[in-house]
Amino acid sequence: MDKFEILKKYFGYHSFRDSQETLIDSILAGKDTLGIMPTGAGKSLCFQIPALLMEGITLVISPLISLMKDQVGALNQAGIHAAYLNSSLTVNQYYKALGLAKQGRYPIIYVAPERLVTEEFLDFALNQRIAMVAVDEAHCVSQWGQDFRPSYLKIVEFIRRLPKRPVVSAFTATATKEVRDDIMDILMLQDPTVVTTGFDRKNLYFGVMAPKDRYGSIRNYLECHPGESGIIYCLTRKVVEEVCGRLRQDGFVVTRYHAGLSDQERKENQDDFIYDRAPVMVATNAFGMGIDKSNVRFVLHYGMPKNMEAYYQEAGRAGRDGEPAECILYYAGQDVITNQFFIDHNQDNQELDEFTRALVQERDRERLRKMTFYCFTNDCLRDYILRYFGEYGSNYCGNCKNCLTQFETVDVTKQAEILLGCVRTCRQRYGVNVIIDTVRGANTAKIRQYRMNENPYYAALAKEPSHRLRQVLNYLMLQEYLAVTKDEYAIVKLTGNSRRILEEGETVVMKMAKEQEKAVQGKEKKERKSSALAGNLSEAGEALFEKLRTLRTRIAREEKVPPYMVFSDKTLLDMCRKKPQNKTEMMSVSGVGEFKYDKYGERFLECIKEAAGEES
Ligand code: ADP
Ligand code: MG
Repeated sequence: MDKFEILKKYFGYHSFRDSQETLIDSILAGKDTLGIMPTGAGKSLCFQIPALLMEGITLVISPLISLMKDQVGALNQAGIHAAYLNSSLTVNQYYKALGLAKQGRYPIIYVAPERLVTEEFLDFALNQRIAMVAVDEAHCVSQWGQDFRPSYLKIVEFIRRLPKRPVVSAFTATATKEVRDDIMDILMLQDPTVVTTGFDRKNLYFGVMAPKDRYGSIRNYLECHPGESGIIYCLTRKVVEEVCGRLRQDGFVVTRYHAGLSDQERKENQDDFIYDRAPVMVATNAFGMGIDKSNVRFVLHYGMPKNMEAYYQEAGRAGRDGEPAECILYYAGQDVITNQFFIDHNQDNQELDEFTRALVQERDRERLRKMTFYCFTNDCLRDYILRYFGEYGSNYCGNCKNCLTQFETVDVTKQAEILLGCVRTCRQRYGVNVIIDTVRGANTAKIRQYRMNENPYYAALAKEPSHRLRQVLNYLMLQEYLAVTKDEYAIVKLTGNSRRILEEGETVVMKMAKEQEKAVQGKEKKERKSSALAGNLSEAGEALFEKLRTLRTRIAREEKVPPYMVFSDKTLLDMCRKKPQNKTEMMSVSGVGEFKYDKYGERFLECIKEAAGEES
């Protein structure tokens, strides 16, 4: 088999995503490999597929038990033998798994980092052919990252003890340079192939609201999104209790998670969420790392997190399946004060000396400031996020609240004609301010001195506010209808394109910030609802989607696996679109591989046929 056949047969996908192929090929060529891709980009396949093609065992290092369980569960579901070795196993289970591993049953084994250099494990590993060590969530080696795990430092020691050095691959969603350098240095990657993909998550909608009644807004949101799975993040345990309690009183099925609950309850609640028994989780930031649930449709923040890193990571848990999902932050002024308090009373930095501690505090304050700006900006929210992480977006994404409500498409042909006309008639001698003052009909000494009050375009746009004219002028420059000299006078000049507007009647449309936010909120509610997950399906399609979802839940209960491991939302949606009638057609649905077809295919085909019968 080759990588394409494995992709189709086990995972049911038809093509690789950007960069997955590069990473896989690099590993198969025997090179160390580092993949930096955002959450949901599909990093797991990048080490799982080579693992199935390489001679020998792949060890996957992962920081959390829940993560391992989730991924091993998904592999088993797809018909791949995989196991995990961590402290959640009893001694008996552990030795049993290790025994099977010795017999060569598992091409992929997930191992907790603290196990690596234990005697039993070394005894196993030193006598096997280890083809690859894949380090997932590799930022955990870095003290710069938010999730530093000292046990990750054991990985290199382990690799060093192996008789033959395996391929080492590492994966993370943390992009900063410090973390990347740490991963390469600490894991001692040898001349690695490094692939970094953009951090934009196009399927995520971003929004910020500052409602008077925060709880009411959140409740409203849940009412508009029945049956969808989502997370509501709160700043403190107290708020989690409060919000969770009120939502229950109001009849929603929600559960909660924070560090104040017993291990037992946290585990139960997390399972309720993962298995869709409680579709909505109310939690502090203690909840999340290791939640690979692919069908999270919204992440709401009841309160502003401490920095953009935390926000993007938490919000990023929405829409891992690539289908539309929403991330909305509900802000209140109090949030800044709460976060200030956290910074001032941070217990994590006790061991630092006074000077370093002050430095860290200052850095945290700066991050908080940037987070606060996010809540206030009228610019494209996605652009703000990407710029924060050092990328450049376009200033209009069309899928965030600001773009959808603060911007509108405006025909500015008339303004453009007048501005260009003014530049031409003053014989291209003046700068931006004079041009704008002229068309607005300003009566200043300078305008009179330049005799621009006699210009044919004087006061031709008297009613237009100057900041809007400035936007139009900027746009005209961006589109090269006008240019500005680069000397200190910054004189506005015509370009080769100018005559297309002045003589050929070309129209100019641009996205412009709206003047005032008028009753946007109510309107948004309706608009947003229709763009929710099943929203791009017809009514009959939505009904079918519900049926398939019910069937999925039934199967999940029978097999005691989370519903999304049977099929993802994305796969169900694809079924609704394609309405497969037979095995071949079903196999063309994204996410339906051979193994899963054999297990579930017939039942889903049946369900689709039934639904078609009811419809006609
Ligand atoms: P990451 O670890 O990068 O956050 P995952 O490996 O958990 O992401 O993958 C996220 C989702 O994308 C999973 O549901 C996975 O099955 C899906 N996926 C991965 N690769 C592909 C692909 N080539 N085509 C379609 N879906 C994919
Ligand atoms: Mg992952």
